[in-house]
Amino acid sequence: MEARYQAYRQRLEREFDKLGPRLQAEAPDLHPKLKAATPEPVPYSYRILPKMIADLAPSVQPPRSTSISYSWRRTDALIDGALKRLEALEAKVDAVPGTPPEARRAAWEQIVNDYVGLAQSHRLINDHVQYNRLWQGEIERHRAGYDYMTTLHDAVLERQGILDAIRAADPNLDPRVHAREQELLRQIRQRTDVLTVPAFLRVEEPAPRRWTIRVPVYTDIDDTAFLRTFRSAVENAWHVQDGGDEFQVVLDIRHVPSSRLYPDGRVPAHGEHIDRFPPDGAVLTTGANTTHVLGRAINLGPHDIAPNTLAHEFGHILGFVDGYFRGYRDRGPEGYEVLEVLTDPSDIMSAPGIGRVQRRHFQRILDTRRGPARVDPGAARSTRKEQPDPYRVKYAGARPVPMSNRAQNRVNQALRDLAPAADSRKAERHEWACYAAQQDVEKAVKALHLHVGQEAWGHVVATLLVELPPGDSAATGPSREGSRPGQLPYPGALSQ
Ligand SMILES: [Zn+2]
Repeated sequence: MEARYQAYRQRLEREFDKLGPRLQAEAPDLHPKLKAATPEPVPYSYRILPKMIADLAPSVQPPRSTSISYSWRRTDALIDGALKRLEALEAKVDAVPGTPPEARRAAWEQIVNDYVGLAQSHRLINDHVQYNRLWQGEIERHRAGYDYMTTLHDAVLERQGILDAIRAADPNLDPRVHAREQELLRQIRQRTDVLTVPAFLRVEEPAPRRWTIRVPVYTDIDDTAFLRTFRSAVENAWHVQDGGDEFQVVLDIRHVPSSRLYPDGRVPAHGEHIDRFPPDGAVLTTGANTTHVLGRAINLGPHDIAPNTLAHEFGHILGFVDGYFRGYRDRGPEGYEVLEVLTDPSDIMSAPGIGRVQRRHFQRILDTRRGPARVDPGAARSTRKEQPDPYRVKYAGARPVPMSNRAQNRVNQALRDLAPAADSRKAERHEWACYAAQQDVEKAVKALHLHVGQEAWGHVVATLLVELPPGDSAATGPSREGSRPGQLPYPGALSQ
């Protein structure tokens, strides 16, 4: 497959090399257009900013969850199509000498347009190749986790089928499907409604029914025009008026000159500079190969980005997780078919391109700030006896360190949640046991992060451990550059 892709790519490049000199001789004004279309790798480094592009137009249809699939078979079909177009282009170039002089100009124009189209397809094919290479490998390495994500992927599609039937007012609809729809929604939300609000976020109520969330953002970016664009992208998206209520995010952007981060003037190693920013805020910086969030930092890559996508990344800073699932089907010798589904295309965390911030997002942040829910007076009179919690009893006090309530709550939760893992193991559902145990370890490590005064998110325990500060100090840990599942762009459609 890769060999076939390389062969196609070389043939496209050869055609370009042949076309360039002929065009310069016969229609030199068209040459710059040809040259601009040449696929070149995009360089990335510290201090390279992305170009801001326009948001996608909102869709007219009510958004539906559909599954998008990527596979070597599909990539193969894309190459087939491109190859046919390239052959047609080569034939057109060969036919130019036989064309009457007055028609040549039009012929060259057509050829250049065809080439520009082929260069665009090439970028898409290249994305597919890279994408398959990455995710096929990830799925192979973490089968159990992806099996779980596949059940969630299927849950989203099943629920969408029910919603379609309800919308179409299907007379044969079994009334029980409403309960099924709610159950599927509960399963999906259990995964997507994880929220870890950072400690540096301030909630203010400047007036009745108005809530402002203030977020300090440290940056070493000097380009004030870019910072203005960033601010308006985030503040416009994270602003909801609903009934008489108004919610908004306000950024407090604080510039940290790179001379202070790097007194000796050297260029930082990848991700190294993030720890040097003051710890009480988010970080906006450059140097990534593709824009992503790691810990409290938005690391910008060189590729064009739309305001709504930046606002999606900022959602991660506020503590939200991605609202899409990546599953797979095993296609035997053809490899895996990688499947992706948006849980809710109207939600910015689900669809960075067309989703929007909703009241629900703000509500969830405010709920975490209101502390533990008040006890329902009815529940207090309940005669139900509190069940002893074996895990809590067993581990409580094992390590007498003072912890913040939030950290302690997380540890307790992680220990309690070990029970399903143990049950699954007993039932010989080993993949579920592994998955549940991994989740618990993740929770426990995140609690440790909280304990040392920092927020962490992400699902790769090894990365979470690397991000812990050395020893028991409360200093922020080192950040690491790289892409993680859920952090890589969709080819073409949605960049993240
Ligand atoms: Zn994301």
